[in-house]
Amino acid sequence: MDVEAQKPDCSKNFIGGQWRDPAQGEYYTNEDPARQVPLGEVAIAGEADVDHAVHAAREALNGKSWGRMSPADRGRLLWRIGQTIRERGEYLALLESLDTGKPYTEALHGDIPHAAGAFEYYAGWSNKITGEVLPIPSSYVDYTRHEPLGVVGAIVPWNFPLQMAAAKIAPALATGNTVLLKPAEQTPLTAMALADILSELDVPPGVVNVLPGFAATGAALVAHPGIDKITFTGSTAVGKSIMRTAADTLKRISLELGGKSPNLVFDDADLQRAVRGVATGIYYNQGEMCTAGSRVLVQDSIYDQFMDAFLAALRDLQPGDPLDKNTRLGSLVSQEQFARVSHYVTLGQQEGATLALGGAPGADRGYFFPPTVFTEVQPHSRLAQEEIFGPVVAITRFADEAQALTLANDVNYGLAAGVWTTDLARAHRVAHGLQTGTVWVNTYNALWHEAPFGGYKESGHGREGGRAGAELYTQTKNVCIRI
Ligand code: ADP
Repeated sequence: MDVEAQKPDCSKNFIGGQWRDPAQGEYYTNEDPARQVPLGEVAIAGEADVDHAVHAAREALNGKSWGRMSPADRGRLLWRIGQTIRERGEYLALLESLDTGKPYTEALHGDIPHAAGAFEYYAGWSNKITGEVLPIPSSYVDYTRHEPLGVVGAIVPWNFPLQMAAAKIAPALATGNTVLLKPAEQTPLTAMALADILSELDVPPGVVNVLPGFAATGAALVAHPGIDKITFTGSTAVGKSIMRTAADTLKRISLELGGKSPNLVFDDADLQRAVRGVATGIYYNQGEMCTAGSRVLVQDSIYDQFMDAFLAALRDLQPGDPLDKNTRLGSLVSQEQFARVSHYVTLGQQEGATLALGGAPGADRGYFFPPTVFTEVQPHSRLAQEEIFGPVVAITRFADEAQALTLANDVNYGLAAGVWTTDLARAHRVAHGLQTGTVWVNTYNALWHEAPFGGYKESGHGREGGRAGAELYTQTKNVCIRI
């Protein structure tokens, strides 16, 4: 496929259905991390562009073509967006792989169908968010309506760019809102390709606006009084700063933040499945996942057996060209991320953990990092407590179920956890004891549009997916009529 011929134009903002030069005329160069070559010039949206987009989004909200579109028609439109994403799967997967360094195959079979699925799933919700008629005295009629919040600012990260954008835009549109999307600076390509699709499908102007840029662009969205809600996925530090800034305009916010998810392997686990699941849990997407199972807790009695099988399973997992269809581990997204992962490897050694595998990057070009395993990791060390966002796993032993739960919960994060056991009662007991928004038992990273996803503790607020995901973008009005 000739990507050059079809690469979306990132040098403009997509505002009110049109591609517009950034008001301040500022641009940056986007990089393909695996080859360390430029991918093209990208617009930097400033405050004036954000303001322009807010007006376009507000106009669409109040206008005839979107504001008065029936919920069923909105659903049909969302469905067509999902279908078009599927039809362009290979193209979009290629863009995603070039931009992020992730394996093309994983983008093709993971990110892109998942993004399409979000639009298809929420297409169905468009006309199924219903209010209630309430049982009050018969001299009154009282009913509720779930109305859109208004203009939504969606700020997304670089690890699953289109998938994250879809997870926010689809429910926001299904419930009648309009959106300003701020892609991560590292990965604007599929956001602009999505703008192309929306434009071709005649989504009314201003319903979705795309504003590339850095932190300052995101911050301009958070500060703008014309934006009613911010939906954010990214780091906990930025999530906290968004929450502080959003207080000034009392914006609603939902935050899907970092994690340090534990994977608990009990002595009654199916060992082969556990080894596969733990490896996928940490190394899928180069470990650049908020759900990465980056802490593995293994019961003493099977520790040696597990470690032998785990290290053997990693022998063939080496980073390679993301565009090679057999590659399962691509490049990290950026030089910055590479430096961060390298820093944690040094730190782990300084903290006295044992480097059992990996640690030393090999390639002279691209930000490739091998699967890295630390054992004998002290539970309170930074390696065991802080999010690395790379292919580095911290392994710690435990004696019994009580200790496993204590260790698992002893972090500030609470996004997800994995449990490997064949004891049904233990599966439920441990699932109930884990302080995380998602618990996977004998599986990992099984994410469904139907299921709520989000964090406990410092992993965030709100749930994406399912009914809860749609309700993030509505507000309830009570109408009371005296008869
Ligand atoms: P990561 O550490 O994974 O890069 P970040 O939280 O830094 O995650 O970034 C996630 C998204 O948030 C990106 O689109 C980024 O540009 C944006 N962003 C970063 N800082 C801010 C900020 N202060 N306000 C709003 N958005 C921000």
